[in-house]
Amino acid sequence: MHASTTCPYCGVGCGVIVTHDGRTATGVEGDREHPANHGRLCVKGSALAETLGHHGRLTHPRVDGVEVDWDTALSTVAERLEATQAAHGREAVAAYLSGQLLTEDYYVANKLFKGFLGTPHLDTNSRLCMASAVAAYKRSLGADAVPCNYEDLEKAELVVLVGSNLAWNHPVLYQRLRTAKQRNPLMRVVVIDPRVTDTCEIADLYLGIRPGSDARLFNGLLAFMAERGRLDRVYLERHTQGIDAALAAAREDDCSIEAIAADCDVDAERLETFFYWFASQLHVVTLYSQGINQSSSGTDKCNAIINCHLAGGKLGLPGAGPFSITGQPNAMGGREVGGLANQLAAHMDYHTPGAIDRVTRFWTTDTLTPRLPDGPGHKAVELFDAIQRGEIRAVWIMATNPGVSLPDANRVRRILEACPLVIVSDCMANADILPYADIVLPASSWSEKDGTVSNSERRISRQRGLLPPPGEARHDWWIISQVACRLGFAEAFAYTHPGEIFDEHARLSDFENYPDNQGQGARLFDISGLAGLDRAAYDALEPIQWPVNARAPQGTARLFTDGRFATPDGLARLIPVRPCGPRQALSEARPLRLNSGRVRDQWHTMTRTARSPRLMNHRSEPFIEVNPNDAERYGVKDQQLARLEGAGGDYLGRVRVSNAQRRGEVFVPMHWNDSFSGQARMGGLLAAHLDPVSGQPESKHGAVSLAPL
Ligand code: SF4
Repeated sequence: MHASTTCPYCGVGCGVIVTHDGRTATGVEGDREHPANHGRLCVKGSALAETLGHHGRLTHPRVDGVEVDWDTALSTVAERLEATQAAHGREAVAAYLSGQLLTEDYYVANKLFKGFLGTPHLDTNSRLCMASAVAAYKRSLGADAVPCNYEDLEKAELVVLVGSNLAWNHPVLYQRLRTAKQRNPLMRVVVIDPRVTDTCEIADLYLGIRPGSDARLFNGLLAFMAERGRLDRVYLERHTQGIDAALAAAREDDCSIEAIAADCDVDAERLETFFYWFASQLHVVTLYSQGINQSSSGTDKCNAIINCHLAGGKLGLPGAGPFSITGQPNAMGGREVGGLANQLAAHMDYHTPGAIDRVTRFWTTDTLTPRLPDGPGHKAVELFDAIQRGEIRAVWIMATNPGVSLPDANRVRRILEACPLVIVSDCMANADILPYADIVLPASSWSEKDGTVSNSERRISRQRGLLPPPGEARHDWWIISQVACRLGFAEAFAYTHPGEIFDEHARLSDFENYPDNQGQGARLFDISGLAGLDRAAYDALEPIQWPVNARAPQGTARLFTDGRFATPDGLARLIPVRPCGPRQALSEARPLRLNSGRVRDQWHTMTRTARSPRLMNHRSEPFIEVNPNDAERYGVKDQQLARLEGAGGDYLGRVRVSNAQRRGEVFVPMHWNDSFSGQARMGGLLAAHLDPVSGQPESKHGAVSLAPL
């Protein structure tokens, strides 16, 4: 049998065709009909069948280390959450979710915690991925709405890749860009990244900037455009406000090419070439990812990029726009249903006029009235701080390993050890989070789960349940709903199929929505055209980009084409940006700048991808990439074991001496954890400095020392 579904790894969201016999998958190939990949797959996607199977899976619920039946486990979760709230107040319980969850799982979790348990403290590991991009889109465009799409990359005259190793982290998108460039010799690609990565293979120009200097560079570009008469004055006048303030902020620093080049540590001639290319082309896409977002000033960096696009009218056109690419398969789906602590539901924030009242009425049943919080909750790192302070005394962690991925990860582990109640839903028996769990709930995994995800271009696609979950494993939406029923909320959580949840989600997206030009953040995310699907129609749902409604029944490829934005007055905002460097300061004791990221063939904490020997072959052990000068200076040799020491702990890895690395900087992969190497947790090296707007941690800018083992 063949069935179509969506790859569970990165935010490209490729369609895959799975060959299976109803019990096991025997093969995976790219779906030629899926608009994200047109049949392509990267090595991770093509190895999906190798990572399946029941070996190593969690198969039974456990309470306090003892295997129990589901009824006991679910009742215990409900009783302990209830008891915690009774003793310590509503806000004493929290949830920490994951971009690996499906949209339906997210929706039900958000509804239970914010709607019926009445706590605002529900956040997600997507906070570590793209929270800064979200905050910047909202500040500037009025909504968390990616304006462009994958085809725009192919249609652009200039593609600028900033803080993105597309070749490794979004490989199918990279393949699409490479092919487009081969077909269009006039297309130029610029890569801006402190590291020389495989993405540079298609670069016409590479700028190996000093880590953290991105905002200075784009502020300089804005000033350059103004000086050379390359601002689109008509577009600025009609569709934006704030150009004067943004320019004034940019000009607080010396805007000569030489000064900007010195601050960014790049060649002045190359910098000017980039500025000239950007300023003189209309069809420019700037694609940015974690290299921009994972910073203590990530929101400002994103806004510095968006400013340049608005200033040149390079947005809302084919082949133009500021394009944030998400890391996880469903980072955007979580945002759509309110999965961030600062959101309420359906792209509405707490401060969206009337939102709390509307959502309350939408979730009200004949006998139940929700009790929504009146303001935002703690964002990821802050949520764990609140556990440490004893304010949050129960946390339900789903499909993520915060003791590996959060900054200062060793401290997070100590916090979890001391937390009175830790509930964990996960698929894998070797997940690092399990030793901290009082209650373990075995969850279904990819190829078993049924629901939807949204990729980086706002495209909703189905993940389909093809194979039976192992043992007693259950779907996340079912587990959450069953706990809700035991808490007395059965009338609001009587779901029997994810299609019913999706329908409710689609109806909420347009419930008493505002007329045009007021609170369009909610209106833009309108998928009311997908409400009312019956089971067969939901099962057959084809990939589609939101908004989907009566005006756009086939979905919407590109946003803001008419120059009207999602702000109250319809004008986009240029944001004054004052560049600032990393907050993790270098010192005599920790003189090296730490960069971190993914390797091509692994995903997150490797619970799935490490099951494939083929994928492990690419990089089989944790490593430390070091510039040759630094290798000599710190007395380490290629292939030798070495130790990094950072704010929160140590990291042990094999040295890879490489000219791809700037002097004074090292790179380590983010994947390794206790199951594979208890001494190579990247999160343990980092101090927890956050972007003040988005709450995203500064994961790209650690400070470490290096020494041979
Ligand atoms: Fe999966 Fe991303 Fe590879 Fe596509 S590019 S196959 S979504 S990992």
